[in-house]
Amino acid sequence: MTGHKLKLPVYLDYQATTPVDERVLAAMLPWFSERYGNPHSAAHALGWEAAGAVTGAADRVAALIGAEGRDIVFTSGATESNNLALKGVMRACRGRRDHLITVASEHKCVIESARALAGEGFRVDFLPVDGAGLIDPDQLAATLDDDTALVSVMAVNNETGVIQPLARIGALCRDRGVFFHCDAAQAAGKIMLDVEALNIDLMSLSAHKIYGPKGVGALFLRRRRPRVPIEPLFSGGGQQGGVRPGTMAPALCVGMGEAAALAGAEMADEVARIGALGHRLWDGIHAGLRTARLNGDATARFWGNVNVAFPGVDAGRLMAELGDLAVSSGAACASAVSGPSYVLEAMGVSRADASASIRFGVGRFTSGAEIDFAIGRIVDTVGKLSSAAA
Ligand SMILES: *Cc1c(COP(=O)(O)O)cnc(C)c1O
Repeated sequence: MTGHKLKLPVYLDYQATTPVDERVLAAMLPWFSERYGNPHSAAHALGWEAAGAVTGAADRVAALIGAEGRDIVFTSGATESNNLALKGVMRACRGRRDHLITVASEHKCVIESARALAGEGFRVDFLPVDGAGLIDPDQLAATLDDDTALVSVMAVNNETGVIQPLARIGALCRDRGVFFHCDAAQAAGKIMLDVEALNIDLMSLSAHKIYGPKGVGALFLRRRRPRVPIEPLFSGGGQQGGVRPGTMAPALCVGMGEAAALAGAEMADEVARIGALGHRLWDGIHAGLRTARLNGDATARFWGNVNVAFPGVDAGRLMAELGDLAVSSGAACASAVSGPSYVLEAMGVSRADASASIRFGVGRFTSGAEIDFAIGRIVDTVGKLSSAAA
């Protein structure tokens, strides 16, 4: 025992959201109080300083993904960024190219945007994933045609941590003259993301997944070589080049910029530390429970996400028993009412095993003592529930 008492519940749900880093909060505070200008007020100094703050924040977000600040559009979060990317590009291409390709295991907001576009008459294909959660780039190549406008594939899956082969997808899209959008909400600060090297034309980001505030996100939108056409979702006053009108929120933008700068500066150390903790968690669970299975590819994954099937155990029951661990059975938005995870089902995981799966998320503030505590609680509780069921 360490002698230190753990703060309960132990937070292992970093894919749902992350706490705001205190350095981020400190950077934000002045923009709520003395620095209250409207960044679009061009007539006085309060406006200019706010405009400078949002421009600086865009530069810092851009730097995390190898982009330039002028190609960053601030939004309310990755949900809006994904809606803007899919609907904005498809509607702007209507009549010239009417085909969208995405993947069965994407975040709900991408799936639902694609469905909405199908309802508007666009042709939409959902690529399948294999048992490891990965798409087959050859199948993508075979699905692309002269009518394809956009391919949308996420970087790191929010439920499983599986990393898609972005470089191959990007090269394919660029070669065929098709725009490539990537939902990188779970990837920023965790894997190297370079929109040039990966040939990415649009990228969605969310501040609250990288220790920034909720309610702000960004869309990287390539404006040259090639210029991506986009139709705004909102009508308004022309802010952000008219792509996303509405008064920008300097405090939130500054928070996202600070979070992005910290994520970039600390990525190497953080990923190594979190990866070691994720491995320790999985090794500990597997050593105590030999029937437990890791969902998703064991190699092409971010190890801060450990999604485990406990065959024969009901995940809802298990989570109720594990009240001192804040964990989830999948996406925060897909609660028990919607049944087992469609992401796991898309991977061919049986309904029974999908209903027996829990996602453990490790992050910046997770300690080794918390991981060891979690392992003990999981092994004990699953053992208890399995012997009761036997
Ligand atoms: C969290 C998340 C979103 C939604 O982001 P919000 O900023 O909460 O709207 C989209 N895609 C992925 C992969 C996510 O993890």
